[in-house]
Amino acid sequence: MASYHDVLWQTFRDIKDSDLSDEAVQLLMLELCNMTHNDLYLHYEDEMPEELYEKYQDGVRRLLNNEPLQYIVGHQWFYGYQINVSPEVLIPRYETEELVANVLADSDYFFKDREEITIADVGTGSGAIAIALKKEEPKFRMYATDISETALKQAEDNARFNDCEITFVQGDMLQPLIDNDIRLDILVSNPPYIPVEQEVQKSVEEYEPHVALFGGQDGLFFYRKIFENAAKVIKEKSFMAFEIGYDEKDAIVAELKKYFPMDHYEVLKDLNGKNRMLFVYHNIEEED
Ligand code: GLN
Repeated sequence: MASYHDVLWQTFRDIKDSDLSDEAVQLLMLELCNMTHNDLYLHYEDEMPEELYEKYQDGVRRLLNNEPLQYIVGHQWFYGYQINVSPEVLIPRYETEELVANVLADSDYFFKDREEITIADVGTGSGAIAIALKKEEPKFRMYATDISETALKQAEDNARFNDCEITFVQGDMLQPLIDNDIRLDILVSNPPYIPVEQEVQKSVEEYEPHVALFGGQDGLFFYRKIFENAAKVIKEKSFMAFEIGYDEKDAIVAELKKYFPMDHYEVLKDLNGKNRMLFVYHNIEEED
């Protein structure tokens, strides 16, 4: 058998003419062997166990087939928490960590003195947003909804895995909250928002669940659905936080104004400088 070093360098040569990066196969090795970069260098000359070698070779083949690394290793890191993913749920994106960070900051600002804050993650998928929020802010009374039972099951498993108390309710967008008469201080959602005709990366198109990606002809279908019914679930003083597509700002704001013409709102950019979040302040003063 070969050493970790030899196996890795052989792959670098093998993938030279493919679209795959050296970083991707190295990350595959680290995640499959449960190693940090440091561990790898310490054990560079050790023999790679047969079983890991087989798994790794299979992983490289799958990566070459455009399968996302996260489905191969079975998880993604989100806000420092391990979120297990199967092809039934969207892989949590780094941009979405910024949505979480901003919700935490606003919650601190508006509800600092409160003992309990009721919040829901609508269309939770893997549960990443709900889990990160609840782990970071124990005062949250956390609800999470999803229409997909398999997604909800995955989210529940992830909550258990992360030792996190969340109430999961199955149903279409806000419906389960309405049915259970739940009133929110904060509504968070990263709904499917890609217009159906828009081209997406091959690995996304071929492997990720379309139900979690596409938001109708203009991408706004689910925002409309939420805006239409939001008044039934948000409290008198509350805020809503959404992830949005980078080019959807004007269209979403126009839509928002039909339903909440009086509310202040703010569109925030992500670290890449793209419009990525919409915050709507309902009868509360927004931060300066
Ligand atoms: N940001 C995701 C992507 O570009 C889409 C997530 C979503 O539709 N909510 O693949």
